[in-house]
Amino acid sequence: MLAMEYRGPYRIRTVQKPEPRIEHPNDAIVQVLRSCICGSDLHLYHGLVPDTRVGSTFGHEFVGRVIEVGSSVRNLAIGDTVLVPFNIFCGTCFFCRKELFGNCHNVNPEATAAGGIYGYSHTTGGYDGGQAEYVRVPLADVGPTKIPPWMKLDDAVLLTDAFPTGYQAAEMGSIKEGDTVVVFGAGPVGIFAAKSAWLLGAGRVIVVDHVEYRLEFVRNFAQCETVNLKEVDDMVVHLKKMTDWLGPDVCVDAVGAEAVGDFLQHLTGVKLLLQAGSATVLHWCINSVRKGGTVSVVGVYGPTFNAVPMGNVVNKGLTLRANQASVKRHLPRLIEHIEAGRVEPHKIITHRVPLEEVADAYHVFSSKLDNCIKTVLIPPG
Ligand code: NAD
Ligand code: ZN
Ligand code: ZN
Repeated sequence: MLAMEYRGPYRIRTVQKPEPRIEHPNDAIVQVLRSCICGSDLHLYHGLVPDTRVGSTFGHEFVGRVIEVGSSVRNLAIGDTVLVPFNIFCGTCFFCRKELFGNCHNVNPEATAAGGIYGYSHTTGGYDGGQAEYVRVPLADVGPTKIPPWMKLDDAVLLTDAFPTGYQAAEMGSIKEGDTVVVFGAGPVGIFAAKSAWLLGAGRVIVVDHVEYRLEFVRNFAQCETVNLKEVDDMVVHLKKMTDWLGPDVCVDAVGAEAVGDFLQHLTGVKLLLQAGSATVLHWCINSVRKGGTVSVVGVYGPTFNAVPMGNVVNKGLTLRANQASVKRHLPRLIEHIEAGRVEPHKIITHRVPLEEVADAYHVFSSKLDNCIKTVLIPPG
């Protein structure tokens, strides 16, 4: 089959690979109909995630058709069209029973911190991902969710990660009616965090980025205010000024490890392979949020050290929340929002690219060319 393959930082290609097979009675094989490239894939592409092995296939956002099921699978049948949450989880462990599916204890025997994720290095279990024609779906009775017949595949594929993650980012902010919410990052996750902040009762939503076309998009999609960080001398002072010097009630980090490399590249024009040591956005969140406020982090940092200004967290009495999203927990509510027409996730898709052109697609998405916000890869056939 055709699949994306990682060869090293900034080097990917499409290759022919053996098709996946059922390895466990609870596996299913899914024929991929759509897969997306995510901002999280860029961390892999930029070489920022440890233990990303040459030869692996990325892709944790995909929908497809079930073509084979293992002997113990009960909830899926051949022919079902499913959306597959990016988390691989068992559904029964201590964490899954608390609906912390992103922290499942049973799916990632090689690592200590993260749960299991498709196509996301051996730090999350070493599973191959869905930027391919076919993918093996372990624990197939637990994660995959049948797509309602009325739902567009382009909406369904955004329920595998970007929308639920943005929603959870806003939810972890514990937004109270009328709160001012600042979201850093106008990528797909930040865009959905801004939209979700309104759904959860925010009174004011401000999104920060340095890519003007993304700010323009989020202004229209989520009816929010925006700040272009290129036009601001001191981000903390600027946000305080905008909020009667109190600071926002909630700050969301939807940028993560990208911040340092991406921002320096923007300033210097030089492509830098940097690990995010100083975590600019995290500092801005902690230093600008009001006393007693909440900082919600969904930006991915990888299992590395990051300098967090803990003194300010303590002295300001902040609540600091962070996690991988637990996609499945949010699905019933988000499906309702889509059905009611309150959110049209597919509108963030700007690019549809044949899987054969995956290398070019990563380059365009990573370099923010051609007004790219979200890219969908279409396998042949
Ligand atoms: P993306 O790369 O499309 O968007 C990131 C945005 O941040 C870009 O628009 C970029 O211009 C902007 N940015 C860079 N530096 C910035 C800075 N200093 N200040 C403000 N904005 C800045 O990625 P995405 O798909 O939207 O994902 C966003 C983050 O969320 C990534 O770190 C991704 O890994 C993470 N993520 C986490 C989860 C989870 O479950 N926790 C799930 C999906 C994605
Ligand atoms: Zn993703
Ligand atoms: Zn579990």
